[in-house]
Amino acid sequence: MGLVVQKYGGSSVADAESIKRVARRIVETRNAGHEVVVVVSAMGDTTDDLIELAEQVTPVPSGRELDMLLTAGERISMALLAMAIEALGADAQSFTGSQAGVITDAAHNRARILDVTPDRVRAALDEGSVAIVAGFQGVSRTSRDITTLGRGGSDTTAVALAAALGAEVCEIYTDVDGVFTADPRIVAKARKIERIGFEDMRELASSGSRVLLDRCVEYARRHGIPIHVRSSFSGLPGTIVGGAGRERPAGGEKERAIITGVAHDTTGARITVVGVPDRPGATARIFRALADAEITVDMSARAGSTSPLGPVDIAFSLPRAALARALDILASLREEVGFEAVHHDKETAKISLVGAGLRSNAWVTTALFAALDACGADIEAIATSEARISVVTGSERIAEAVRAVHTAFGLDSDAAEAVVYAGSGR
Ligand code: ASP
Ligand code: MG
Repeated sequence: MGLVVQKYGGSSVADAESIKRVARRIVETRNAGHEVVVVVSAMGDTTDDLIELAEQVTPVPSGRELDMLLTAGERISMALLAMAIEALGADAQSFTGSQAGVITDAAHNRARILDVTPDRVRAALDEGSVAIVAGFQGVSRTSRDITTLGRGGSDTTAVALAAALGAEVCEIYTDVDGVFTADPRIVAKARKIERIGFEDMRELASSGSRVLLDRCVEYARRHGIPIHVRSSFSGLPGTIVGGAGRERPAGGEKERAIITGVAHDTTGARITVVGVPDRPGATARIFRALADAEITVDMSARAGSTSPLGPVDIAFSLPRAALARALDILASLREEVGFEAVHHDKETAKISLVGAGLRSNAWVTTALFAALDACGADIEAIATSEARISVVTGSERIAEAVRAVHTAFGLDSDAAEAVVYAGSGR
């Protein structure tokens, strides 16, 4: 039997009892004959608490020291989990990301994995131990400083180790039973997806589905590592993420559309730059300044302006966390570019329908707009591709909107499948 990587999120190791429960599951897997590598997140809300603590000390903690602080969260859970496994009579050794050979670039708080050299993990397995690795952290090859991969990065650690060690599967344990057709926290009738291709999963993840991050899915796709997303609370089989996904059924002239699920994202904000002069380079200047500050913008649109100063308004979405920085950058560009004003909306939401053949089947867009309209959700911006239709809307009615779209596309389940076992969403 092969090597299995298991990743447990913060909600699965929130307290001593949960750590013991997880330890039992790990020892069971070990006793079934597998070699087991475990990647663990910080207990419960530890990471949030540490960030808050840092902000009480200084509003802008340095990236290097913040990484030193946050990696302590995973050190606590990895050591406790190793102790719990040893208490059950099995051998375990815990390793920091750096000890496990997770080599990253030097970008603090959002480092990328460049290489994984898990010699010590391999040696621990050869000695018959379970290897426990702290998630979401590594060490920079150039600066030799400790880095973190960004929030939710433990999933990527797990997939990266699975790839480096040639694991047969990477199991991601969370507080729901798998990947659902919508977030089971707001759609009680969400349906569990048994198998989903990498591409579909990536679309869901990049549209705000919190169950897996897009970077992790992309890493798994590139290395061909199947991911099994499942609950550490129920023991039920979850969702297998891997392969190319479903074949579209042929139907008439055009192939019919497939609807995989509905994702939503409430972490965005929207900015409108009013009265941008219509000279070459003005729009490019604005987007370049944002890109230089590593602010990712999305769902951008140009429209005729009501301002006498310039013929166009430029609107775009961005992560709410980057809003203050973006507004500063735009203020500093105002004279140079010569636009009139900047408006912003802190509370926007995005709802996305993910599937295949979406753009070539006009009924899909029509049915989506009808469902949104019926529940009173406004439509501020739209982006369409064959794999996804995204709509920016106000955040007040987002839960109703997701439920309405889920029902309209026939995704509702009759059985009560969508159980949420813990609150944190990881
Ligand atoms: N503990 C980190 C976080 O909360 C990493 C993770 O959970 O994946 O973001
Ligand atoms: Mg966490």
